[in-house]
Amino acid sequence: MPLDILVKNVALWGADGLCDLGISGGRFVALEQGAATPAALILDADGRLGVPGFVEPHIHLDKALISERAPVNVSGTLTEAIEILWEIKRNYSADEIADRASRVLARAIEHGVSRLRTHVDVDPIGGTRPAQGLIRARERVSDLIDIQIVAFPQEGIVKSPGTEALMREVMEAGVDVVGGMPFNEASLEDSRRHIEIVFEIAKQFNADIDMHVDETDDPLARTLEMVAELTIENGWQGRVTAGHTCALASYPRDHADRVIGRLHEAGVNMIANPATNLMLQGRLDDYPKRRGVTQVKELLAAGVNVACGQDCVHDTFYPFGQNDPLEIGFLLCHASHMSQPAEIRTVMDMITSNAARALRIADFAVAVGARADLVILDASDAREAFATRTPRRWVIRKGRLIAESKVERRRYFCI
Ligand SMILES: [Zn+2]
Repeated sequence: MPLDILVKNVALWGADGLCDLGISGGRFVALEQGAATPAALILDADGRLGVPGFVEPHIHLDKALISERAPVNVSGTLTEAIEILWEIKRNYSADEIADRASRVLARAIEHGVSRLRTHVDVDPIGGTRPAQGLIRARERVSDLIDIQIVAFPQEGIVKSPGTEALMREVMEAGVDVVGGMPFNEASLEDSRRHIEIVFEIAKQFNADIDMHVDETDDPLARTLEMVAELTIENGWQGRVTAGHTCALASYPRDHADRVIGRLHEAGVNMIANPATNLMLQGRLDDYPKRRGVTQVKELLAAGVNVACGQDCVHDTFYPFGQNDPLEIGFLLCHASHMSQPAEIRTVMDMITSNAARALRIADFAVAVGARADLVILDASDAREAFATRTPRRWVIRKGRLIAESKVERRRYFCI
């Protein structure tokens, strides 16, 4: 019985040497060097790196590409980015959101993203339309990518009456994860109540939690430690993720270490968002300017699971973004001073296995019996992959080849 696909000479991420991967019936059925089994399709990776897909753990598909018709964010701050969206959100339609999201998802798929978690605004301004739009977009591409949707109360919960009920409504309608933005409340007490409500909803739906936490340079912001405390109190260890956490980058060392220790204890997953935070944070600082990227190395050293994500794509927060995890990893190497070979390999983990752990994906591996998801990069190792960020050679999902690119190498001759 011939295989469906045989991928030869793969430098499999996390393994030594080269191997041949046999795929049949949507699963990996053989992992051995020199396999000579006949196959309907034979691909020679020729020593290229293979990963079980990239995992995008934090993006906002409902806002993606909105800059095509949004006013310019003149101050360049997070606050203005949020406020200039209000008028647009009032006129949102689910179909228009689904169309924009689908365009961005097409790019993610060709970049080899096999799993993705997107936040979606839930508030009385846009109502449930953004969530409906993303649920629609998810249905369109369900054969090509797995998507988790997070109910994100960007306008606050306590200070935005009606939001809590809308969050429960979208959870009922098929949204998977409960989001939050506790720093966007009027007082520390309200921030705590915001987090408590997030846990109440998560418990009602037995859902994971993924909050935007302390997306500010303010060294007095304290909601990250509240998230850690309430995670332990509610027994939700391992099921909570905190994105951005920029204030941690402004804390004095002793306080930062104490908070990082609590995060480890609580099993909170951390997502760095270098692109957006480098762009938005420290805007009002004189030199030296804070750059807002959370304490990646320190968190990793403490044993905390850290991943990194795109966050924004051509919206009022960030004018760039291709939904390519290699681009975000490349930025993170710079922002977090990760330049040694082992550190660069860790960044590759952050856009693959660490992100999969944050999203609690059970079968993320290239192994016999596992779902046959595989991306062959046009590079032999992680450093080359980040350095060149060339199109992915082949993207295989559930045993089916869904994308391929061939890079024509230009040659320059000195005269
Ligand atoms: Zn975000």
